Amino acid sequence: MTEIDGTPLHDLVQSWEEIQDEFDFWGPDGEHDRAVLDCAARLAADPAAGDAYVWVLGLTIMAPWTNCCGVDSRTQAEAALRAADTAQRVRSCDHDSHPYESHDGHDADAELPDLLLRIADESAEWYEEDQPREVWRCPRNVAGFARIALDILRPGEVDDVPPRLSLQDRADIESLEALLELYPKAGTDVADEIASQGGYLYHAQPEDRPGRLQVVRAVSWHAVSGMIQDRSVLRSLINGVEKVLPDFADATCDHAEHPKLSGHSTSAAELGIVLSTPAGRRVYTHNPDRYGDGAPLEQLVCPAYMAQVAQETLTELRAGRDRLFGPRDTSHLDAEYLRADGLLDIQKITERLQNVSWNEQYADELGLWAARRYDRLGQTEDSGRPGDQARRVRERAVLLLTAHQTMTVSYPAPPYAVARDILAIMRTVAAAPRPDRCPHTDAHPPLDAGDFRDGLPHFYTPDAFPPLDGALSVESWTCARFAGEVAAKCAGALERLYEEDDDEG
Ligand SMILES: [Zn+2]
Ligand SMILES: [Zn+2]
Ligand SMILES: [Zn+2]
Repeated sequence: MTEIDGTPLHDLVQSWEEIQDEFDFWGPDGEHDRAVLDCAARLAADPAAGDAYVWVLGLTIMAPWTNCCGVDSRTQAEAALRAADTAQRVRSCDHDSHPYESHDGHDADAELPDLLLRIADESAEWYEEDQPREVWRCPRNVAGFARIALDILRPGEVDDVPPRLSLQDRADIESLEALLELYPKAGTDVADEIASQGGYLYHAQPEDRPGRLQVVRAVSWHAVSGMIQDRSVLRSLINGVEKVLPDFADATCDHAEHPKLSGHSTSAAELGIVLSTPAGRRVYTHNPDRYGDGAPLEQLVCPAYMAQVAQETLTELRAGRDRLFGPRDTSHLDAEYLRADGLLDIQKITERLQNVSWNEQYADELGLWAARRYDRLGQTEDSGRPGDQARRVRERAVLLLTAHQTMTVSYPAPPYAVARDILAIMRTVAAAPRPDRCPHTDAHPPLDAGDFRDGLPHFYTPDAFPPLDGALSVESWTCARFAGEVAAKCAGALERLYEEDDDEG
C-alpha cells in the first residue's frame, strides 16, 4: 500500500472523494478546509516535485467544494496550483498527448480518485492502455491538471484546458431537469425557478440571448400546462421574449436550413443553458455531438432563426396566458346544457359531474357557466307566473352544486380565470346571512365524492325521474344553510389554490 508520511494514500484519497461527492450539500466546513489547506501546503512546499501529481489531483478532486465553500482554503489552493503549473509546464517530454487534454468535465472528474490510487501504485491493475502511468505523472500533464483545477476555481481565467461548464450552470441544469420531470429538488420554488428564466433572458448580454431564449422556450410548455397558477410566471417569460425579439427581428442569414430544436423540455433546457455562457459555447463547439444533432454553433444561435423561435415562443406563451388567465365566454353553453323548453339538461349535467378523467374536459367551462347562471338567476325579477319561483329555486340549487363539484373534477386545477370568477360568486353566497336552524329534519345531500348526484335528477324534475330510496326533501336540497356550506367549502378550496392576486397586469 502506498503511504505518504505514514498515512496510507488510500485514506487521504477517500477523504478527498467524500468532499468531491458531497460538495453541493455542504456549506463552509472547517474539516474540509483543513483537508484542502493540507493538500495545498504539501504542493506549495515543493511544486516541482516528482510526487506533485498526488497533490495536484487532490486539489482537482476537491476543487468544486473549494470553489463553492472553501472560505479559508481557496486562496492557498490557487497559489499552490499556480506554482505547480509554472514549475511543471516548462519541463519537456516526448509524449504526443497527455490525459488532461481530453479530460472534460464532471464525469471525468469522478474517475480521478480511483485513477490517482492506481497511478501511485505500480502493482495495481492499469486499464488505460493509450495513456500509460508515466504519462499521467509527466510534469506537463501535472501542469495541465493544475490548470484544470484553477479553471474550476476561477472559470475562464486559464487557457489550454478543455472547456467545461461552470458549477453554477451544472447546478442550474440539474435543478431545471428535476423540475421539468416533475420531481423538483427539495427547496425548489417551482414558480420562482421558471419565472427567473424570463428574468435571465431579459437581462442577458446580447451574445447570451439565443441560449437564454432557448431556455425560456424549454420551460414555456410547463408554464402554460396549467400546473403553474401564478400569473407573474407567464408575465416574466413574456417580458423576457418581448425584450429580445427586436434584436432578432430584422436579422437575415444565408443558412440553407437550421437545426431542429429538441421538443423535449429537459434536453432543450440543457442545451439552452450550455449556449448561455461563453464557457458553455466553448463546451458545445468542443463536442457538439454531445447535444442534439451536433449542428454548427452559428446555426444554432443564428439571429434569423432566433427571430422565428422567439416569435413561436411568444405566440405559445400569450395563448397560454389568455387560456389560463384571460376572460372566458360561456354564453355558447346555454345551447349545451339547456333544453329547448328552457329546463336544465339534468341528465347530461349529472353525468358530467362524475369525478372521472373523461369529464375533465367539461369541468372548467361547465362550472363557470353554472356559477354565472346561478348568480344571474339570483338577480332576475320574479315573473309571477305560477311555479316559476319554485322552479328557479330548484335550478339554483342544482347550479350551485354543479359549480362546486366541477371544481373537484377539474384537472390539474381550474385555470385562474375560471377560479377567480367562481370564487367571487361562492364568497358572496358563503357570506350571506343564514337562518339559525334548518327548515327540514332530514340530512343535507351528501357532498363527499359527489354522492349527491344520485338524487339530483329526481330533485330537479320529480315527474321525469322516480325517487330513490331515502330521497331527501326539497327543503333539504334548497336549504340556505346547505347552500352556505357548499359555497364555503368551494371557496375554501379555490382560495388555497390561488393566493390573493389583485394585480391585474
Ligand atoms: Zn509528457
Ligand atoms: Zn441562419
Ligand atoms: Zn338545512
